[in-house]
Amino acid sequence: MKKILAVTILILMAAAGKIFAQNTKEIAAGPKILVLNYHQVQNSHHSLAVPIADFEEQMNYLYTHGYVTITPDELYSGLNGELELPKKPVLITFDDGYADNYTNAFPILRDYGMRATIFVIPAFVGKYDNYLTWEEMREMEAGGITIESHTMHHYKLEELPDDDIRSELLTSKQMIEENLGHPVEFLAYPTGTYNLHIAGIAKEVGYKGAYTIKYGNVDLGSNFYALERVPIFHTGTTMKDFYERIEYRQSFEEFGWIKK
Ligand SMILES: [Zn+2]
Repeated sequence: MKKILAVTILILMAAAGKIFAQNTKEIAAGPKILVLNYHQVQNSHHSLAVPIADFEEQMNYLYTHGYVTITPDELYSGLNGELELPKKPVLITFDDGYADNYTNAFPILRDYGMRATIFVIPAFVGKYDNYLTWEEMREMEAGGITIESHTMHHYKLEELPDDDIRSELLTSKQMIEENLGHPVEFLAYPTGTYNLHIAGIAKEVGYKGAYTIKYGNVDLGSNFYALERVPIFHTGTTMKDFYERIEYRQSFEEFGWIKK
């Protein structure tokens, strides 16, 4: 009896090992793209606010570790196999379009020659002081920043009727295009939440891809309308958490814990 049990365990272990190996191989194929998700860069205690010195240290870490910043367009073409991505690609994103992205983050990004993408809420522009103005966005776009959509009002999309979801996605896209003079083809879902239905509408109104807050790398297993990101927050140990998040995402994926 004991022997049968031992043999059974061995067989099970071998089977698990095989599945494990297959997963690892599948997931390791193709480019791995790190997408960071920030909100505010300022010295307040808000959990969405990364302190300025920490943000600078994080950009320095990426720079000295050979990461190369890319745009949403490059990520899209890279995944489609139309463009060869750098060895360690990183897409730096900011949600909501806070004014401190201009005053605090932009000068640091510019110093390092790094690019980034900001998902803005057009209805807030010119209405609230702590959000970016069109003028600031134009200046940043001339300096390597890409502006994309975070919907018109930042409503919870899953609570809206279809016509309103469509309008949130489409009017924001059009308004940014009118003010900045370039196509807006990428979206970040407000609060990161989405479902297949919302993703379908995003595709229908002309977006080529949409970002969530699903934790992980973007790779060949990713859905263009449910792209993964790694959120960076202000915690008691912001820098330690940053390093761990950058390092752990690799092991998560290598062991197949994310995409399944
Ligand atoms: Zn948001």
